[in-house]
Amino acid sequence: MAALRGCSLRLKTLCERLGEWRRPPRRDAHKKKWASSRPSARGAELALQNLDMSCGPQLGDLWPSVRVGLLCEQKYGALLNSFEDVEKVIRQMELQQAKDFVYGGGDSQGFGCMPKGGCKPRGIQDLPQDLQTPESCPDPSLAGGDSGRESPSSLETKQCLSVSPNLKCFTFPRGDTTRFKPARQGSLRMLEYYLMDAASLLPVLILDVQPGHTVLDLCAAPGGKTLALLQTECCRHLAINDISSSRLSRLRKILHNYVPKNLCTEDRLRITSFDGRLWGEIERDTFDRVLVDAPCTTDRHSVHEEDNNIFSRLRIRERQMLPLLQTQLLVSGILATKPGGSIVYSTCSLSQLQNECVVERAVQVAETEHGMELLPEDLTDVRTHYRETFNFYGRCRVGELVLPHLTANYGPMYFCKLHKIH
Ligand code: SAM
Repeated sequence: MAALRGCSLRLKTLCERLGEWRRPPRRDAHKKKWASSRPSARGAELALQNLDMSCGPQLGDLWPSVRVGLLCEQKYGALLNSFEDVEKVIRQMELQQAKDFVYGGGDSQGFGCMPKGGCKPRGIQDLPQDLQTPESCPDPSLAGGDSGRESPSSLETKQCLSVSPNLKCFTFPRGDTTRFKPARQGSLRMLEYYLMDAASLLPVLILDVQPGHTVLDLCAAPGGKTLALLQTECCRHLAINDISSSRLSRLRKILHNYVPKNLCTEDRLRITSFDGRLWGEIERDTFDRVLVDAPCTTDRHSVHEEDNNIFSRLRIRERQMLPLLQTQLLVSGILATKPGGSIVYSTCSLSQLQNECVVERAVQVAETEHGMELLPEDLTDVRTHYRETFNFYGRCRVGELVLPHLTANYGPMYFCKLHKIH
């Protein structure tokens, strides 16, 4: 009996052990299941991996802080709607300790107040007579900066901007992460301000639109920069284009909410949905100012959002083709600009391949294939002027780049300005 009990105990232990034991996975038996159930890397994860590989070497020691900035909450600016009662809104903003960075936030006088006349920019002898305006004034107190970059080539021009006093964008000071409340309707039944990444205003500021100018916004939707262009009240005619009709409907909504109807007449505004690459052939030498705010990898958005992520495996080819598309768009914008006019190219990407390389290649194509001459503008003074508000990289070969940083979490925003000599 005792022997039988001992035997059944051993059997029980054996069974328990057998229960614990798992058959080692046979690859061939489970391969299909593994392949289909293994979670594929998400677009946002791939975006971060990709940026680690490209921006790590590019930005060196700066990358860890830029990375943290990208992953943390973005900071906004409030672009005031000059078609509403701005004085009231300014008082409200000031009560919250927010400041207009365009005029009041710099570490020197606002561009609108900069001394004019008396000096010529570097390389001015290369400019035709009609570009040698008295506004062309490199203020030595604004030169230099934080880059350590060598002085720009003699082919770079440096010009002061005179920004429309209508452009006011309020931001909270560095390190202050207070959020703006959603905009309300004002007494004129339009929204009082538009919340945007304040760095997105820089391409519009450097475009330097002057009264009476004809302007082309080649990749305009959803319309933050278009709205800023309209706020200047300088555009005699604004051509607004974007290939995506669904994004253009968002832009129309912005116009509806922020701009009086009498300013949206057909002779002032033209909204089209063409492939911007063809524009230069259709309307050559036409516009005083052209903004090419190109489609890009939208780095901040891409590390957060899964929907339609450009880093997802399904969009690899599209992503690889971006620099070519960007170059074609910029060349088209250059062709559409009048001789003596200027072009601003911008992206919200950190990638050199989508920024400086595109500008350099487009200038090369415009010069060699279309016989044009272009002069990149030295934007050191812009960087110096706005360094209180934004964190600039300062080491771009051409143009400037705003880097995200926890104390001033705007960007990324790359921008570059070209003057078309002929
Ligand atoms: N400027 C806009 C703003 O401030 O709200 C943002 C523009 S977004 C960075 C780039 C835009 O380029 C997208 O709306 C996209 O639909 C448009 N786009 C892409 N390819 C284009 C093309 N071939 N021609 C014109 N627009 C294009």
